[in-house]
Amino acid sequence: MVRFVDVPNMRRWLIDTGIERAIEGIADTIAEDFRRWEQFDKTARVASHSDIGVIELMPTSDGVQYGFKYVNGHPANPSRGLQTVTAFGVLADVESGYPTLWTEMTILTALRTAATSATVARLLAPEGATTMAMIGTGSQAEFQALAFRALLGIRSLRVWDTDPAALDVFEANMRPLGFDIVRAESAAEAVSGAQIITTCTADKANATVLTDDMVVRGVHINAIGGDCPGKTELDARILHRGEIFVEYPPQTRIEGEIQQLDAEHPVTELWRVMRGEASGRTAADQITIFDSVGFAIEDFSALRYLAEAIDGTDYFTDVDIIAEPADPKNLFALVAEGAAAPALA
Ligand code: NAD
Repeated sequence: MVRFVDVPNMRRWLIDTGIERAIEGIADTIAEDFRRWEQFDKTARVASHSDIGVIELMPTSDGVQYGFKYVNGHPANPSRGLQTVTAFGVLADVESGYPTLWTEMTILTALRTAATSATVARLLAPEGATTMAMIGTGSQAEFQALAFRALLGIRSLRVWDTDPAALDVFEANMRPLGFDIVRAESAAEAVSGAQIITTCTADKANATVLTDDMVVRGVHINAIGGDCPGKTELDARILHRGEIFVEYPPQTRIEGEIQQLDAEHPVTELWRVMRGEASGRTAADQITIFDSVGFAIEDFSALRYLAEAIDGTDYFTDVDIIAEPADPKNLFALVAEGAAAPALA
């Protein structure tokens, strides 16, 4: 039997646990896993592109467990009532090869992306940061805001989205939770006075959500939405002014903001910063950029955290997805009755 967490059970687990507590737990697990980087199989994710989106598989293993996520990115989906990003994932036992957990990951992806962003911002954001600008207030945005409150104490948000309805939803969701929200009239107005800038837009284009003149010295940029070839958010001049931090260079060079730069442009790997082997922010006036694309180890960490959290609870059902004949060499026994019907020919 494989443990299966469907959307109703994910909701129940998260409502009972609390979103910020779940994000904190996933953030700790991500940091723990990034610090044991060499134990993991690492590969750039396998992407299948179309004109309107991408479907990706994101596998990794630490030698004990194997995990993968199936995820899509279709920026035009909301205009036909569908989400931009949906996902599910699997954790498996390396020793037997048998899956142990199968779960919805649309919500879990929002949690792990937010947990990663805030974990990285804790290393890179300027000291005493109080205010975050958020450009793009779609599905990921509330989770980002909660992660930055949980891990950095950020309560003041300056928000901008080209879709007023997305701003309405974000405000309605977040105001009751005690955030101080300024609704800006443009991206430039949103970033004014913010020490952290999160870009989380969806457009399958080389967009310039942030122009060079909007970015003052000393800010930290959490750039989430540029995560596919031909899909970026930042003016390349910003990249030349800042220090760039990435998850896994072979994947980020294909998918991240740095696809706009030479292949040799220097970047710092976050696992080295987390291990204390590389510097994070080194000066108050430095511009730091997290060129986030989302890496398989973050999903593995989220799966690992969830698997431990639901153990001994009823937040899952057992599903019979692995055919297990009593005699492992007699798979046929499970379907033998099917042989009684004659073939058509
Ligand atoms: P979404 O479609 O729900 O929200 C995106 C929002 O961006 C929309 O409200 C849209 O109106 C707004 N937008 C588009 N262009 C804009 C612009 N120029 N200025 C301001 N707002 C603009 O998508 P989502 O699920 O919130 O995901 C956002 C992005 O993050 C996507 O591109 C997705 O691929 C990416 N993502 C990255 C990671 C990661 O790990 N890096 C994880 C999940 C999602």
